[in-house]
Amino acid sequence: MAIIVQKFGGTSVADVERIRNVAQHVKREVDAGNQVAVVVSAMAGETNRLVGFCNEFTVRDESEYDTVVSTGEQVTVGLLALALQEIGIKARSWLGWQLGIRTDSTHSKARIEGINAEVILEGFTRGEVAVIPGFQGVTDEGRISTLGRGGSDTSAVAVAAALKAERCDIYTDVDGVYTTDPRIVPEARKLQKVGYEEMLEMASLGAKVLQTRSVELAMKENVRLQVLSSFQDTPGTLLVNEEEIMERRKVTGIAYSKNEAKVTLINVENTPGVAAKIFSPLADSEINVDMIVQNVSEDGLKTNVTFTVPKTDLQKALEALDAAQKKGELVYGKLLSDSNVAKVSVIGIGMQSHAGIAQTMFSTLASKGINILVITTSEIKISVLIDEESSDDAVRMLHAAYELDKKPKRVE
Ligand code: ADP
Ligand code: ASP
Ligand code: MG
Repeated sequence: MAIIVQKFGGTSVADVERIRNVAQHVKREVDAGNQVAVVVSAMAGETNRLVGFCNEFTVRDESEYDTVVSTGEQVTVGLLALALQEIGIKARSWLGWQLGIRTDSTHSKARIEGINAEVILEGFTRGEVAVIPGFQGVTDEGRISTLGRGGSDTSAVAVAAALKAERCDIYTDVDGVYTTDPRIVPEARKLQKVGYEEMLEMASLGAKVLQTRSVELAMKENVRLQVLSSFQDTPGTLLVNEEEIMERRKVTGIAYSKNEAKVTLINVENTPGVAAKIFSPLADSEINVDMIVQNVSEDGLKTNVTFTVPKTDLQKALEALDAAQKKGELVYGKLLSDSNVAKVSVIGIGMQSHAGIAQTMFSTLASKGINILVITTSEIKISVLIDEESSDDAVRMLHAAYELDKKPKRVE
């Protein structure tokens, strides 16, 4: 008897009919003789609605935010348990704290530290399907926490790791991981298999089909992860170790993120330790800084520093820098920001051994007059920051330029 974890995202549980459809997917695994834990998200749009309520207040308290936004998942676990019982399957719903889904105290983007698998396993011995809410946990202080947007993927992988499940199937509204977001590029191709490292880059660079942390965790805990559709009965995408991929391209995929904002500090004193002075207040406010460029003036005395932060953290970042200036910890001339930017990235393990990938990217963008504001690279990706309005076009053009719409050839 195998243990299977299934996860259904917001669109898959958007209404009662769809929840009944999910129950059929669960029934299929139960009928095959498996023990099943199902992780569900809130109904589509519900978490946004709850976030909207919190944003109406002038105070921000992350733990109260978590108390509110975690409730969407409480509704769907209960409804799915009812849908399962309706078709004769023994099932019960749980909440995060009842399963000891312990997290750290970083409210609104907490990390899972452990799960009490015993409780779920006991349910299995009673013949019950466990219906588990994604996204939520509990801190050591006994407060409800949430894992950041898209966090139900991570809940599912953590449950699979704790149960040593044979598989973790992530059901969503697309039937797998594509070369890029199929909503932007209809010609995008489904990847039968994708390497953990490439998937990690794609997710962290904006491909929201899997939350980044879920890929990280699957890689670390060796969870067999699969992405597939809850609406179509087609084979999905399997995450595998890089060496299992026989057919590969120089570029595997293209990702984009519109949750970006650019911050520029003008005329910062160019002294040793200045970067630390800029980035410490941001780190203290738990803001992730991403792309960074520094231009030193000709006389070497002043420097301009540009970097990006998530758009959702822009206000907090500006406040932290302003406060550091007021305290005399940091001296700069001017503080500028722009939230009309997007990051477009080209990802592929194959680029390590092939020249010209960056050149193709830059010349493709130049041919359409798209200006590059910032560039960053790693061994397996190149990212550029451009105007937000150009980002969909950029993704389409790059997808065509790297011939991602064509069948892959074997690359040595
Ligand atoms: P769920 O609610 O099931 O968690 P999400 O909306 O979080 O679903 O993720 C699925 C969406 O991810 C798809 O609808 C698609 O638009 C988007 N997406 C972005 N990049 C990719 C990609 N490379 N492959 C597949 N889907 C992608
Ligand atoms: N409901 C949460 C969100 O919308 C978690 C998830 O769907 O994965 O972000
Ligand atoms: Mg998601």
